[in-house]
Amino acid sequence: MERQCWINQAIKPVSQAGVALTDHGLLYGDGVFEGVRFYHRVSFLLTEHLERLFQSAKAICLELPYSMDDLHQACRDVIAQNDLMDGYLRLVVTRGSGALGLDPKRCETPTVFILCDELKMVRDSAQSGLKLIVAATRRMPLDVFDSQIKTLNYMNNILAKIEANQAGADDALLLNTQGRVAEASAANVFVVKNGALISPPSSECALNGITRRFILELAASLGIECVERPLSLYDVYHADEVFLSGSGAEMLPVADIGGRRMTACPGPMFKRLKQAFDERVQALSEA
Ligand code: PMP
Repeated sequence: MERQCWINQAIKPVSQAGVALTDHGLLYGDGVFEGVRFYHRVSFLLTEHLERLFQSAKAICLELPYSMDDLHQACRDVIAQNDLMDGYLRLVVTRGSGALGLDPKRCETPTVFILCDELKMVRDSAQSGLKLIVAATRRMPLDVFDSQIKTLNYMNNILAKIEANQAGADDALLLNTQGRVAEASAANVFVVKNGALISPPSSECALNGITRRFILELAASLGIECVERPLSLYDVYHADEVFLSGSGAEMLPVADIGGRRMTACPGPMFKRLKQAFDERVQALSEA
């Protein structure tokens, strides 16, 4: 069955839902987006994702024509119209169709759409460990563009992914312009050292990941020491375990970074947290 999407208040088959060639999301990457998992037909942490969507929109002076409640309902409708038990929603808000020339003043109404599909981030065997490279492409510094704003402009993440593809790796670690670890191309980074869980904060030029926050809270509730602090590449190479988190990625253990094998993959901390993560997801979808 063809996937159904939601676009400006209508449910349509994806092949019949179009956006204008003059949409500034397409012409300039002028817009914001979110990616949200759903399990057993219930979206996971949707309120947090919608809050971040509204915050990203505000940061780029884009006023959404819908409320949080409208978008909650739209997500429920999209899930209801598709035959997937588990899947992924992609919410996109663009500046809308406008004149050529980048001035957003000349765009009348934002385009808002929600796609729904399965999402496989990486090869199936990834649960046994990802191979990462360290990308030459850096994250933009915060004084140029704040990485907390989730906009449609993903070019440096894409360039990092191309580097990974060319090297035959699964993904790339991006450093900030100070040379410290920021995040992966579409996921946050965790390391485990001497029983503590460490992750760089968004001030290191990482997205303020919703899955990352969920894992930190989950770990704290299990009595695990959690530290948000900057990480050097040396810290990562010498960690006991490394793993990634994200709505798309969920939790993925890392086996190798630039030819350095991780001591344990998947390690005991990863296994414990992944089990707790899966249990929490199960509990939320049964609630
Ligand atoms: N960093 C980047 C660059 C991302 O695109 C994503 C995926 N949204 C993440 C981190 C993980 O964020 P979240 O857990 O909110 O999906």
